Amino acid sequence: MAVLLLAEIVGGEISIDQTGKALSAVKKLGDVTLLCASNDCSSAATAASKLEGIKNILCADSSLLQNGLAEPTADLIVSLAADYDHIAAPATSNAKNILPRVAALLDAMVITDVTGIIDAETFERPIYAGNAIQTVKSSDAKKVISIRTAGFDAALETGSATVETISATENPNLSEWVEDKVQTSDRPELTSAEIVVSGGRGVGSEESFAIIETLADKLNAAVGASRAAVDSGYAPNDWQVGQTGKVVAPSLYIACGISGAIQHLAGMKDSKIIVAINKDEEAPIFQVADYGLVADLFDAVPELSDAL
Ligand SMILES: Cc1cc2nc3c(=O)[nH]c(=O)nc-3n(C[C@H](O)[C@H](O)[C@H](O)COP(=O)(O)OP(=O)(O)OC[C@H]3O[C@@H](n4cnc5c(N)ncnc54)[C@H](O)[C@@H]3O)c2cc1C
Repeated sequence: MAVLLLAEIVGGEISIDQTGKALSAVKKLGDVTLLCASNDCSSAATAASKLEGIKNILCADSSLLQNGLAEPTADLIVSLAADYDHIAAPATSNAKNILPRVAALLDAMVITDVTGIIDAETFERPIYAGNAIQTVKSSDAKKVISIRTAGFDAALETGSATVETISATENPNLSEWVEDKVQTSDRPELTSAEIVVSGGRGVGSEESFAIIETLADKLNAAVGASRAAVDSGYAPNDWQVGQTGKVVAPSLYIACGISGAIQHLAGMKDSKIIVAINKDEEAPIFQVADYGLVADLFDAVPELSDAL
């Protein structure tokens, strides 16, 4: 079996974390070829060559593939597909844009958010906001899968795969990259952070969210939020954790003023240690918390920051 794995590259830089964890998941399927497709991605390919478990790397460095533009990237993958049984990518926003196009062109279905690989055609994925695990057996000739990376270990960086340069396919002239509007932050990226401090509706306002951010900065943590906090305008929507937000599994997740609705739990319940601060002792978050503090977050969070 041969696997074509699409590397996660943003702004010419590879996410070793996302790519390496997806690699850990798919390498049991067979030989893995890593595809680096973007503009200015040769340094990304060099960085990826250290990932243990890659057979070889294909590097398509082309302005046509600027910032992972979905249509030409999908065309490129389809042009390579004959040599592979599985086409995979980490389940990122990029992959959500690219893989459905690949699958449609190959007349296959996408098996999304795979959390377990049983064999070459059988995969596990969460459904019902993570309350059940579905086992999917696919009879498609080529399996197109996205990997939910949170549950997989990162690949070691002891490899030395060879990098082969390839060309992009012709411009399908369907789309053009104009600009990316990305919020920059010095904090760790939410989905790969070791520690996440999240605030919910209980935080009460955008201004009050500063206490969550202060605690996060003390811990070198990423900041997360519940959907209620995002919908209320207290936090930007790329901080949202949950079923319709990001899925995180840090070593430590601190939930402040979050009730623990199942849609929120779907995004964080695999965290190794969960700490909840809530003034309602009946809040459902305490059922999943390893440590629970029944307290007013406006007292407890600044006190914790000061102590740190
Ligand atoms: C299809 C669908 C998808 C969804 N996707 C998501 C998702 O991705 N992520 C998500 O988070 N939600 C999601 N939701 C919404 C979810 O159902 C909840 O409404 C939401 O998670 C509630 O957010 P919250 O816990 O911040 O707010 P609330 O449920 O209002 O809880 C606020 C908590 O703060 C506590 N509190 C208040 N003041 C203080 C204080 N001073 N000190 C300490 N504690 C205090 C309260 O006791 C309460 O427990 C989704 C819902 C649907 C239907």
